[in-house]
Amino acid sequence: MLIDTHCHLDFPEFDSDRPQVLAAAKAAGVEAMINVGSSLEGSRRAVALSRAYPEVFATVGIHPHDAKACDVAAFAEIEKLGQEPKVVAIGEVGLDFFRNLSEPSAQREVFGRFLALAARTTKPLVVHCRNAESDMLRMLTPEVTKGIPGIVVHCFSGSADFLSACLDMGFFISFTANITYKKAQGLRDLVRSVPLEKMFLETDAPYLSPEGKRGKRNEPANVVEVAREVSRVKGIDVEKVCAQTTKNARQFFQITP
Ligand SMILES: [Zn+2]
Ligand SMILES: [Zn+2]
Repeated sequence: MLIDTHCHLDFPEFDSDRPQVLAAAKAAGVEAMINVGSSLEGSRRAVALSRAYPEVFATVGIHPHDAKACDVAAFAEIEKLGQEPKVVAIGEVGLDFFRNLSEPSAQREVFGRFLALAARTTKPLVVHCRNAESDMLRMLTPEVTKGIPGIVVHCFSGSADFLSACLDMGFFISFTANITYKKAQGLRDLVRSVPLEKMFLETDAPYLSPEGKRGKRNEPANVVEVAREVSRVKGIDVEKVCAQTTKNARQFFQITP
């Protein structure tokens, strides 16, 4: 029993075999998947998938790469989509200064609006942060985050200092299968320092296939491999890893079994 807390089943990579991908996830023990919206169109598709499949839940948001496309109309539509019954969070939103596909100033401005939206609608927030730790911490002040019921930093790949700052603020930390990569020892050390009670598992499919499947499309069934790696790294029984992280995700996203 597992939840893939972050995947992009709405992407065209799944257009030819989405029902089979969902069946494979179910067969692997994945009871629910959270399809994360990363653009206006992606958020629409996420909501549509949540209507079509009982095991799929949605989030709505605009990825920092696309911040430049977040005009008044797009933001208003995201806000409206957020009222759909199976929308469990706002996101993914945040800052990405690694690729800078949108200007940093636009990213900050849009992220600020989504922080306010999450607080106003009392929805949890899925944060994407890459090469932007100090700006992220500057923006996530107690005044701003007050009212947001929970924050998760997804696909965690930051520094140990950023990790402890996030844990100090009560955030959840979500890991992908990049923790299985041969060169990811630093990341595995961080896995060791996150209490299981503050951890989610995700695939970020179609990206970040686990070691041994790299170069192939990733899919939610592979969240099992993230659980196995956490189990191995922390020396905790895999069943316990699955049970606790699923419990965390159910509470955070308010998904009842
Ligand atoms: Zn992301
Ligand atoms: Zn993502």
